[in-house]
Amino acid sequence: MTEGLAGRTFPLVLAAPSGAGKTTIARALRERRKDVVFSVSATTRPPRPGERDGVDYHFVDHAEFRGMIDAGELIEWAEVHGNLYGTPSRNVADAVARHEYLLLDIDVQGARQIRRKLPEAVFVFVLPPSGQALAERLAGRGSEDVEVRLRRLANARDEIREAAHFDFAVVNDDLGRAVDEVERILLAETRRVSRIPALQAEIGRMCGDIEGYLGSARG
Ligand code: ADP
Ligand code: 5GP
Repeated sequence: MTEGLAGRTFPLVLAAPSGAGKTTIARALRERRKDVVFSVSATTRPPRPGERDGVDYHFVDHAEFRGMIDAGELIEWAEVHGNLYGTPSRNVADAVARHEYLLLDIDVQGARQIRRKLPEAVFVFVLPPSGQALAERLAGRGSEDVEVRLRRLANARDEIREAAHFDFAVVNDDLGRAVDEVERILLAETRRVSRIPALQAEIGRMCGDIEGYLGSARG
């Protein structure tokens, strides 16, 4: 396959109930593929210990977030677990310009909006191995107090129902295998005919070559 047959890049949406392991999978995928970039969202949620502004999220207050909505700077936004989260449109434009795969770690409401606005995007739903495992992982992460954690778990039930509307479902039981599967989905999607703009021209050239060969062989 020649360089000329490189496919267009596309956004990859990873959604899952909180605690299913999206962030862990996204980081591992990024380690493997340098052409995968994180979409840094804006949020009104306060930073967790260790989170950095501009790297994990753009941490903004409500007024700033409203300003971004009003200025049309967010391609999608939603209220999740009582906080506002949104994807800057610029993330999408920058990834296209750099031929990178934009990895969006967003909730199911955001995924629905992206589906409408970016039909080229690919949607992967990450499922926990079980409800019990999800509850244990959320508790094990230890980043929220009990009330917040239980709210997230209650929302998880509704989010999991959305998995049926996604393109792919990956169960995050063994982390390495889950990352392998997401990477293979990415790889397969890069070879989708509709994403390869130069394919028609290449087919024409190849057929021309074969005609030429047949012509000279028949002499
Ligand atoms: P999310 O981004 O979906 O909210 P995280 O990536 O923060 O979830 O993962 C939640 C917790 O589960 C973290 O403590 C993480 O280390 C752990 N975790 C993630 N994947 C696995 C896995 N395959 N097996 C066991 N624990 C996992
Ligand atoms: P957390 O607070 O754990 O970082 O994220 C909570 C939820 O918000 C997760 O389901 C995450 O995917 C989602 N989220 C993060 N950024 C965005 C965003 O830009 N848009 C939407 N719709 N959801 C987001």
